[in-house]
Amino acid sequence: ERPRLLDDEEGGVLFYSASPISSSGYGYANMEKQRQRLPVYKYRTAILYLVETHATTIVVGETGSGKTTQIPQFLKEAGWAEGGRVIACTQPRRLAVQSVASRVAEEMEVKLGEEVGYTIRFEDISHTDLTRIKFLTDGVLLREMMDDPLLSKYSVIMVDEAHERSLSTDILLGLLKKIQRRRPELRLVISSATIEAKSMAAYFSTRKRRHGPAENMKHGPSTEAAILSVEGRGFNVEVFYLEDPAPDYLQATVSTVLSIHDREPMGDILVFLTGQDDIDAAVQLLLEEAHNSRYQGLIVLPLYSGLPRADQDLIFSPTPRGKRKVVISTNIAETSLTLEGIVYVVDTGFSKQRFYNPISDIENLVVAPISRASARQRAGRAGRIRPGKCYRLYTEEYFLNEMSAEGVPEIQRSNLVSSVIQLKALGIDNILGFDWPASPSPEALIRALEVLYSLGAIDDDAKLTSPAGFQIAEIPLDPMISKMILASNGLGCSEEVITIAAVLSIQSIWVSARGSEKELDEAKLRFAAAEGDHVTFLNVYKGFVQSSKSAKWCHKNFINYHAMRKALEVREQLRRIAQRLGIGLKSCEGDIQAVRKSVTAGFFANACHLEPYSHNGMYKTIGTSQEVYIHPSSVLFRVNPKWVVYNSLVSTDRQYMRNVISIDPSWLTEVAPHFYQHKQPNPMVH
Ligand code: ADP
Ligand code: MG
Repeated sequence: ERPRLLDDEEGGVLFYSASPISSSGYGYANMEKQRQRLPVYKYRTAILYLVETHATTIVVGETGSGKTTQIPQFLKEAGWAEGGRVIACTQPRRLAVQSVASRVAEEMEVKLGEEVGYTIRFEDISHTDLTRIKFLTDGVLLREMMDDPLLSKYSVIMVDEAHERSLSTDILLGLLKKIQRRRPELRLVISSATIEAKSMAAYFSTRKRRHGPAENMKHGPSTEAAILSVEGRGFNVEVFYLEDPAPDYLQATVSTVLSIHDREPMGDILVFLTGQDDIDAAVQLLLEEAHNSRYQGLIVLPLYSGLPRADQDLIFSPTPRGKRKVVISTNIAETSLTLEGIVYVVDTGFSKQRFYNPISDIENLVVAPISRASARQRAGRAGRIRPGKCYRLYTEEYFLNEMSAEGVPEIQRSNLVSSVIQLKALGIDNILGFDWPASPSPEALIRALEVLYSLGAIDDDAKLTSPAGFQIAEIPLDPMISKMILASNGLGCSEEVITIAAVLSIQSIWVSARGSEKELDEAKLRFAAAEGDHVTFLNVYKGFVQSSKSAKWCHKNFINYHAMRKALEVREQLRRIAQRLGIGLKSCEGDIQAVRKSVTAGFFANACHLEPYSHNGMYKTIGTSQEVYIHPSSVLFRVNPKWVVYNSLVSTDRQYMRNVISIDPSWLTEVAPHFYQHKQPNPMVH
């Protein structure tokens, strides 16, 4: 039953690989055989029986066992997509949605976007009439509820990667539980890579069997949730620890990869780092080494969300003979994606995690230690095709005594403003009494209500205001950005502010330029606006449009061409949404003060002032007096205007503000009188 290692005669691929037909020349039968070899295949009948007879079925199975790609196909083959119905499969991550959807389309030999489609925010590759299996992020499914509260077109909703406990997954589960009560014919499949399924089953089984007429519904599904465990087939993975902690995990990563390449037999390497910055840095360092003849044969590839499609495809294509692939990934490769040829895993022990403090009202993306459960998942990725090895860049003592057993659900460490406004828009008024799969802290909920109140999205009774509250909820962006767009309507600069909103929804429009930071800074200076980053974005956008959207122009200016194309697309969609909401599209023709005021109207809660006599550019937040600094990537770094608002914070050695714009403090009381009533920013300070 084990997958075979292919030798040289067979297609010239050294390792067994479930690669797409096109790249390895396999025919249809082979794809079918690959499907049959997956562990879930043996459970096909059991899964279909449980879904038929239970409202909720929980499927637990190791990563790579075929849950995501196969179960939706089983359901379709069994008739769940007949009569115009649709099977949904949700993922926490956008990149996983795209990748899994194209894989399934390929297996079914259909064109992506027709029978099999996907939807992520600002990208809909599905067809209203044709699509039968739809992959989507859990966030997008939540949005669909605004138009169709009972999600009536779906016959089965598979909530995948439930073990991740992402914020949207938990909220979705809470709402699906409610929908089930109104739609007993709806089936849920919850799939998870770990065994904490019992509490999930208990959560979905709490409904009492109804007495009276309902009891006569003999053929209705059981309201007890069923649990099915798909037996995995992973190979042993030998785990290595460091003797002493590594002072620099980036350096340790690079030298570990090189020594694996030096000493170990062929087989691909998967490295877990934390985010685009350190991944790009590691890729650069490894590429420099790869020039050294000793390390020839290394193919170094980054993997993170926001990666262009062409680069994603490289990750999944088979490694050429005599070469070794090194994939440097965020924790997206922990359970969401299966890479076929991995034999070695390098685990730095960190990931980027959201942390929110409701007292200071500060949310941060922080590089933080992973849990033991995550570390085990990561190690498991090495045992896919044969026994593998996992190198943990931390000590065993640290693993046993410092790492927590499980991660904390994201709902308990997030700012809940977006979630609360969505629940409100769906008519859930008693937020504190909502039946959550994991309860958020009351402080965080109250904070969220306060912010929504100050944005004018809810009224004194905590009800959504009309039309502002509904409009803010309708725009698929952070409520602060949505508010900024609404405010631009009255200030006559919606065209500009929508451009800014589109750029803010992209990770970065600059090319990361390790080794050529100076050139990047010079390029930035060409666009830099004294008012700050938001206005700088407008200059870049203008330049891009004037260049006729030229890739060459982008290259010359250290601007990421793909990011700019994406921003243009998002901008078009936002313009359409704005028009639907009755926001007139108007340009302020260079009246930048209107733009700055609009930004302030959305982000007044993030206002800061420069500490008087500060020699190192220290700012304090107005609300809670936190120390913050302007991020070196901002055009206002070292410029240090007296009053600014920022878009987000990142924390490394300090709290850094990203995307900063200078403001006039008198605007604060103008745009958010109640918010600043008690906080009394004193414009006379300076
Ligand atoms: P699970 O959801 O249980 O982790 P998947 O259904 O995602 O498992 O994957 C099952 C198998 O399908 C993988 O082991 C891999 O062989 C194959 N596969 C999945 N996605 C791709 C892809 N994008 N390209 C090539 N093969 C893939
Ligand atoms: Mg999966």
